[in-house]
Amino acid sequence: MINLNLATIKSMISYLYIIIFFVSIVHTYLYTPNECPREDSLQYCLDVYIRGPTYYRKDFAYENDLLLERNSRVIHFPVAFVHPLDVFDVQSAIICGKNFNFTVIARSGGHSDESYSIGDRDCTLVVDLRYMNNIIIDANTQTAKIGPGVTLNTLFYSLSVHDFAFPSGECSTTGVGIILGGGLGYLMRKFGTSSDNLLDAQIVLANGTIVDHVKEYHELYWALRGAGNAGYGIVTSLTLKIYPIQKIVTSMVFTYDFDQTQLVFSVVNELGNSFHPNLTIQINHENVDKFEILGFYLGSSNDAKPHVQKLIELTNPKNESYVEGDWYNRLIVNDVGRRNIYKCKAFYIDSSGLSYEGVEYLMGFMKNFANNFLVRTMLVTGKVNEIGRNETAFVHRGLLYMLFLEITLDEVNYETRLKDLEIFSQAFQENYTSYEGYQNHLDKDLYNWQCRYYAENFGKLVEIKQKYDPNNLFNWNQSIPTNSEISCYSIK
Ligand SMILES: Cc1cc2nc3c(=O)[nH]c(=O)nc-3n(C[C@H](O)[C@H](O)[C@H](O)COP(=O)(O)OP(=O)(O)OC[C@H]3O[C@@H](n4cnc5c(N)ncnc54)[C@H](O)[C@@H]3O)c2cc1C
Repeated sequence: MINLNLATIKSMISYLYIIIFFVSIVHTYLYTPNECPREDSLQYCLDVYIRGPTYYRKDFAYENDLLLERNSRVIHFPVAFVHPLDVFDVQSAIICGKNFNFTVIARSGGHSDESYSIGDRDCTLVVDLRYMNNIIIDANTQTAKIGPGVTLNTLFYSLSVHDFAFPSGECSTTGVGIILGGGLGYLMRKFGTSSDNLLDAQIVLANGTIVDHVKEYHELYWALRGAGNAGYGIVTSLTLKIYPIQKIVTSMVFTYDFDQTQLVFSVVNELGNSFHPNLTIQINHENVDKFEILGFYLGSSNDAKPHVQKLIELTNPKNESYVEGDWYNRLIVNDVGRRNIYKCKAFYIDSSGLSYEGVEYLMGFMKNFANNFLVRTMLVTGKVNEIGRNETAFVHRGLLYMLFLEITLDEVNYETRLKDLEIFSQAFQENYTSYEGYQNHLDKDLYNWQCRYYAENFGKLVEIKQKYDPNNLFNWNQSIPTNSEISCYSIK
């Protein structure tokens, strides 16, 4: 038995203090961000010219800003977070950044899967747009003018009050980055992607010029619809096409056993192109024990049922449920989980669908993968495919699915899980999917991302970048470069 007298306890406590002291030194050493050259000059410039709050590394509020990044897998230490109150603050931030040689990065909702809204290294200057969050709805012209700090939740809610809708994703906290890089969701088969519905924008360019109507600059307007979040400037206002919407819509859930996966894919491969435009579905696997088709129909459940009858007959779900309501309440998903550690991959599947072998391979991954995962297979088609591949920078047309795979990570076996995902993804991509990937679900490990995200539009995007940001002020791993040897014309 150990005899603990007062002296022993005292000496144990002092040892503990010594250990804590050394651990904190090591921690500080490891986590102190790099010094940034010309930081003082930049700070002076920002303090003089910016009206909104700016947080530097020494400020308590700086850490809150860091934690707004949704994915905690990636961390870098920006030199500062600027919070502009208006377009002139954005302009000043860009000019200060440019004058003192800092890379400038825009942040709206902070949902970049690789945290590119704090850049890809320390010492970037982040322009966080959350306070520029006006929404003006014009029912006569069926347009909405929104600030870049608006999230999907506030946009959708404001529109629904006026019986209008806008096609986009459904996660409540996503910002306007989604609109600039595409934007897929339950309304896309009827109305197209979000970027298809970007009518105009105000943008501040690398040289500080404020362009009030990007529509008058044809090539820049072309680039913003699909690559607007890839380094052309900071978008400070977006004019959107909005649509009158049914007062009652129906969301549907059809549940299945995991081993019905093969059947479900073969049926949706067959029917997917011919569904009514008011109907959109997603095939969702949340680990192996939750397998569902989620459907969304613009109209009542009685109207919806004939349009899913064949799907039901052929796939034989265990349960069916239909819930009616207004589109905002049926569609928006409250992002309560917010920040977590994850990695995702996105694949486009050709118009013939995912083959038997492809489904088999995917099921094998799902059965064997040790951590939590989500596989969300979105049926694209409809209006999205009625627009030409080169009409805007968003090239992904004529495809059947965008398949999104997200894994949740923890400290245990972190590297092994990432490697498992990578091995699966490379083989899956090579053998069973189209060449293309989705630029709104970024993956810094994606080989030849230039051609996968932008395909034959990449060359033109580089030329436009060269013209509007020749010194590459807005740059990170997967932003559009100012020049490139890569040609994507032969692919596809
Ligand atoms: C939980 C979750 C759900 C998602 N659901 C969907 C979905 O249903 N459908 C879908 O299509 N996508 C979806 N996405 C992906 C999403 O579209 C992209 O991550 C999108 O880029 C996020 O935009 P953001 O403004 O929130 O992110 P941010 O991280 O702020 O920005 C993303 C990128 O855009 C740039 N950017 C942001 N604002 C501006 C601006 N004003 N001007 C110029 N560049 C800017 C940033 O610099 C950054 O590189 C989802 C992502 C997450 C994390």
